[in-house]
Amino acid sequence: MKERSSFTSYLSLNEVKGWLIIMNDNKLNLILKLSVIYLIVALILCVFAIFYTQSLKNDAEQKRLQNEIQVAQMQMPELKEPQATAAPQNGNAAEEAIALSGDKITGNSSAALTSPGGRKVIVLDAGHGKSSSAMSADEKRAEGYEYNESRGGWGEWRHYKNGTFGEECHGSGCTETAPSGGSCWYPMGNGDRSNEPQINLNNTLAAKKYLEQMGYEVRLTRTSNEQNPSMSKRVSYCFPNNDATQQPDAAMYVCLHSNAGGGRGTSYVALEGAYRQSYIASDYVAESNRAGDVINRKVAAASGLRQNSPIGNESYLILFNKSPVPIAYLEIGFFDNSSDLSILNSSYDAIGKAVAEGVDEYLNS
Ligand SMILES: [Zn+2]
Ligand SMILES: [Zn+2]
Repeated sequence: MKERSSFTSYLSLNEVKGWLIIMNDNKLNLILKLSVIYLIVALILCVFAIFYTQSLKNDAEQKRLQNEIQVAQMQMPELKEPQATAAPQNGNAAEEAIALSGDKITGNSSAALTSPGGRKVIVLDAGHGKSSSAMSADEKRAEGYEYNESRGGWGEWRHYKNGTFGEECHGSGCTETAPSGGSCWYPMGNGDRSNEPQINLNNTLAAKKYLEQMGYEVRLTRTSNEQNPSMSKRVSYCFPNNDATQQPDAAMYVCLHSNAGGGRGTSYVALEGAYRQSYIASDYVAESNRAGDVINRKVAAASGLRQNSPIGNESYLILFNKSPVPIAYLEIGFFDNSSDLSILNSSYDAIGKAVAEGVDEYLNS
């Protein structure tokens, strides 16, 4: 065993010598250098390949999301949120809204109404809420929705019979107050949203806090994402104890939404055309648009969201057809735009404060 062992070590020594000789060989030196260069190039290619694959993945994900939004909009044409026009802040409608502010002095709006307690009442409406698919039939009925077999299920009528409050139109006598070629029946599921209810609630709760600090009485149409009142139920908060047989006692109705579908910035939906529910004053349209304009300017200035011109072609919105008092319908930011979304997620307190200041300015100017 010993001899064998020494024989092995003798061979090993020779091997090492051999390697040393080989190492001095210029050709091998070159091969070694080339190998190192090859390894570095391969490493760089690997890094590039990883980045490229990642960007392909991101593109695919973005396309998938866009497709989902498109499919959702095609399936539910009425669901499409009002789109902000690309026009800058000095659009015609914005100018009109400013010009209209002069009418207020001679107007006969209900903006000066106060509650029996002497404080002005503001109805704050956080748009949307609990998904319709998560609500039981009893819940839907309690929230003011109607089941209509021939119309395909749960929903509500867009407006009341001319000159009434609370008498649903049932699809007749709806000239000018329903979307052209559209229906007066609004299917409940069209109002379902995934992210928007929380965004709207954040802004609304902040606005409530600041309005109360200013001395207003605030009524919320919903206080959690477990509720989703019908539009009829939401506007009932304009009346004392939700009793629509009495005179409305709210000074104004403010509903807060966030937009989607491509775009950025903050806007309000303009009222235009015919509204025939009872209680509204002759300057209902002008006063509502003035309120929307004042609040939107405040929100843009405070949040850094781009101030867009008013959204048109949405005159048939249920709330416009059912509110008994001037209504400001805000579309604050685009929640499907990442930079708007980060403002919405971080600045809702400032947005709520701006809404409160806008309400106060509107009511006092
Ligand atoms: Zn109708
Ligand atoms: Zn909305």
